[in-house]
Amino acid sequence: MLEKIGSKFTYKTFVGSSTNKNEVCELCNQTFDWKHKQHQCKRCLRYVCYNCAPDKAIIASHDLKTPHRICKNCKDDSKHQTQQMEVEKCKFGHLSGIGKRWAYLAQGDDFAIDKAQEEYQKSLSQILKNASNETKNQIQTNLQRYFKENKKTLNYSLYEWNYKMCVGEQEISLLTKISNVLHCFFQTNPIKLTRNLVFITTYILYFCDEAICLLLLLFLHQKVLPSRFQYHKLDVEENKPIDQEVKFLLDCITEQSNSKIDSLLRSKLKVFLDTYSSDILTTLMFNHIEFYVGYFLFNQLLINREFSIYEKFLANICLELQKVIAEVQIDEIPHQIMKNIQLEQLTTFLQMEDTQKRKYRTSLTSKEQLPQQSSNIITQQQSQVKKEEQQQQRQSSCDNALQYLLDSFIGFLKDNQHSKIEYMIQNEKYDSNKNQIKELYQAIKRQNEELSGLRNSISYAKQDQDLEYDANNSRISRSSVKLDDPERTFFQRELQEKSNLIKELEEKVSQQKELIQRYIDQQQQSEMDNYNTVSSLKAQLSNNNQMTADNKEIQTKAFEQKEENYRNQISNLHSEISGLKFEINNLQIQLQQNQKNKTEFENQLKEKINSEYEQEVYRLTEDRVSLLKKTSFLQQQNSFFTVKLEEKEQETQELKKQLEEQKKNTEEMRLLYAKQNEQSDKLNKHIDDLNVQILGLKRKEFDQNNNQTNAQTHNQTSINKELQENNIQIRNNLLHKEKELFNLKQKFVEVNQLKIEYFDQMQSYERINKEINQSLKQYEGQEIHQLKSFYEEKISLLESTHEEQMNRLLSQFQQNQPYQLEQQTTNQHQYFKESQPNQEKQIIDEQQQEQSVTQTDDCTIF
Ligand SMILES: [Zn+2]
Ligand SMILES: [Zn+2]
Repeated sequence: MLEKIGSKFTYKTFVGSSTNKNEVCELCNQTFDWKHKQHQCKRCLRYVCYNCAPDKAIIASHDLKTPHRICKNCKDDSKHQTQQMEVEKCKFGHLSGIGKRWAYLAQGDDFAIDKAQEEYQKSLSQILKNASNETKNQIQTNLQRYFKENKKTLNYSLYEWNYKMCVGEQEISLLTKISNVLHCFFQTNPIKLTRNLVFITTYILYFCDEAICLLLLLFLHQKVLPSRFQYHKLDVEENKPIDQEVKFLLDCITEQSNSKIDSLLRSKLKVFLDTYSSDILTTLMFNHIEFYVGYFLFNQLLINREFSIYEKFLANICLELQKVIAEVQIDEIPHQIMKNIQLEQLTTFLQMEDTQKRKYRTSLTSKEQLPQQSSNIITQQQSQVKKEEQQQQRQSSCDNALQYLLDSFIGFLKDNQHSKIEYMIQNEKYDSNKNQIKELYQAIKRQNEELSGLRNSISYAKQDQDLEYDANNSRISRSSVKLDDPERTFFQRELQEKSNLIKELEEKVSQQKELIQRYIDQQQQSEMDNYNTVSSLKAQLSNNNQMTADNKEIQTKAFEQKEENYRNQISNLHSEISGLKFEINNLQIQLQQNQKNKTEFENQLKEKINSEYEQEVYRLTEDRVSLLKKTSFLQQQNSFFTVKLEEKEQETQELKKQLEEQKKNTEEMRLLYAKQNEQSDKLNKHIDDLNVQILGLKRKEFDQNNNQTNAQTHNQTSINKELQENNIQIRNNLLHKEKELFNLKQKFVEVNQLKIEYFDQMQSYERINKEINQSLKQYEGQEIHQLKSFYEEKISLLESTHEEQMNRLLSQFQQNQPYQLEQQTTNQHQYFKESQPNQEKQIIDEQQQEQSVTQTDDCTIF
C-alpha cells in the first residue's frame, strides 16, 4: 500500500522550490530558459516546465467552463481520486468501502457496526428533540459559518475531492447531516463546537454515513487524541494546551535537528505553530496536505490508534521549515506545505525516525562501553544517567508508540486478521506464499515472545544497574575512592556482559523489528491489496453484473428503442418514399394527363383552328361564291335590268309614242270637246230658244185656254192645230236634241273609257317604273339611279303633264256637262206629262217616230 500510493507521487523536496520557483521546474528541476518556458499548474500553483504540464483540464477550484494548465502530479492525483471514488463508492453521507474498513478498525466486527447504525437511526430523532438549547444554538449559529470557512481554506487536492463528493448535493442537506452527527456527539461529549470539529466531521462524512461518522468521531475523541488536545472543552477558557503543544513540537524539532535553533527562527516557528498547530493537529493536517497524504495518515491513525506519529510528522515539517522559514512569510507556509508535502516525504520521515532511534541506541551502548575514569565516568555516568533517564523517558514514549504500533498490528492480526490469514493460507491463490507466511507468522509469534522476554530482562538489568549505581554512589560518597574494587570490576564485567547481551538482544530485536516491520508492511500491503482487489473485484463484479444486466437491459432497451426508432424512421421513410412515389406517380399521371390534355387541346385547337379555318374558308368561299353569285345575279339582274330598262326604254318610247298619240288624241278630243262644246252651246241656245218658245207656247196655250173658256169653240180648233203643230215641231226638235245628247253621252262614255284605260296603263307603267326603281336601287348604280331619277323625272313630268292635261280635259268636260242638258229635258218632260197626260202617249209615239227621223238627220248635224 505504501509503495503503491507512494509510486503515484513524485518526491519533491519541501524546500528549494520557494526560492527558485521562477528558475527551475518544481517537479523535475529543469532550469527555465528560452527553450524551456515556465508554466503554472492552475491546480497546485506549481511553476513547472511544459514537459511536466502538457495537458489542460477543468479545475474545480477555478471556473468549471474552460480547461486550464495542469501538471502531471495533479493530473495523477485527480485521476486517482476519481478512481478511488468509483471503486469505493464514495458519496457524501454514504457508507463506502473505506468507511466500512474504518468502522471495522474502530469497532471490531460487523455486528457492532450494524447495531451502531440501528441505534443511531432509533435515537436520532429523540436526541434532536432533547438536545439542550445551548447545543442547538451553538450548532445553529456556528455550523454554517465554520462550514463555509473550511471550504475556503481547503487545499487544491481536498477541494477537488470535496467538489466531486458534493456534486448534486444541496448545502442544506450537507449541513443537516453534519448537524445530526454533532447533536449526537454532543450528547455524550459536551465540548465546544470548533471549526476543526466541523472539518473532521465533514471529512469523515466523505466516506461514511452519519452513524459510522459518529462512531469514528467518538473513537477518535476518546481513544486516539491525547487528552491535551481536548482543550476545547466548554469549561476551559484559555488556549494553554496549545502552548504545551507548541513547546512539545519545538522540543521535537530541537532534538531532531541536532543543532541549536537561533532565537529568531525559534520565535518564528513558535508564531507559526501558535497560528497553525491547532488547525494542523486537530484536523490531522488534512487542510494542509494533499488529499492522499491526509487519507493515508487518517488510515494509519485508526490502525495504530496513536496520535504522536502526527505530532512527529508535524515536527519534521517544522524541521524542514527551518531552512526556509527565515525567508518565507508565515502566511505562505501553509501554501508551501500544501504544495509539497507528499506521501513519500511521510515515509522518509518514518524511516528517518527509525534510523534516529537506532543511532541513539548505538550511541547509548558506545557510551556505556567507555566508563574509563571513575570521576569522569561517574560524572559522565551521572549525566549519562540523567540523560539516559530523559532519553529513556522519550525513548519509552517512542518505544511505546512503536510497541503500540507493533502490538496493534499483531493484535490486529490476532484479533481481526487471524481468520483472514487462515483463510488466505488455505486459499489457493496464496499457495506459493503459504509456507512463507506460516513461517513468518510463527516466527513473529516467537520473536514477539522473545522480545517481551528480552524487554523484561533489560528492565531487570537496568533495575540492577540502577541499584548498583546507587550502591556505588553511596559508597563513593561515604568512603574514599576505591577504583580497583574487585566487586566493582566484577560489576563492571557483569555490566559489560549484560551490556553486550543487551546489545546483542537489541540487535536481535532490531533485526526482528525490521523483519516484523517488513512482514507487517508486506502483510498490510498484501492484505490491503487483497482487500482492495477483492473489494474492487467485488465492486467491479457487482458493478459488472449490475452493469451488464443493467447495461444489457438498457442496451437491449436502447437497442430496441433504437431499432424501433430506426424501424419507425425506416417505416416513416418508407411511407415517405411510398408517399413520394405516390406523389411522383400522381405527378406523372398528372403530367401525362396534362400532356394528353395539352395534345388534346392542341389537337382540339388545331381541329378547331382547322375547322374554323375551314369553316371560315368555307364560309368565306361560300360568301365569295354567294357574292360571286350575287354579283353574277346582280350582273344578270343588271343585264336583265338593262334589258328591261332597254325594254322599258322601248316601252317608254312606245309609251311616249302612245303619250304623243294620246296627246294627239287629247288634242283631237279637245278639238272634239270644243266642237261638242260649241255644239252644246248651240244646243243650249237652241234649248233656251226652245224653252222660250215652249214658254211662249205655254202662254199662248194658257191664253188660248182662257179664250177657249170664253170663246172656246172659235179659235180652239185653229189654236189647237197650231199648238199641235208647234208641239210636234218642238217634239221633233227635242227628239233631235235628245239624239244629239245621246250621241254625246256615248262619246263621253267612250272618252271616259279611254281615260280609264289610260289610267290603268299609267298605273301599270308606274308599277313597272317602281319595280325598275327598286331594282335600280338594289344596284345602286349611279347611272341607273340617274336613269331612274331621270325616268322618274320624266315620268313625273309626263304624269304631271298628263294630269294637267287630264285635269284640263276634265275641267273642260265638266264645264260642258251633259247632265244639265239632260235635267233640262227631263224637267221639260215632267212638265209635259203633268200638263198633258193624254197627249203624252201621242207625243211619245210621235217622238218615237221623230226619233227614227232624227237618227237619219244626225249626219247633217255633225
Ligand atoms: Zn518539469
Ligand atoms: Zn499541479
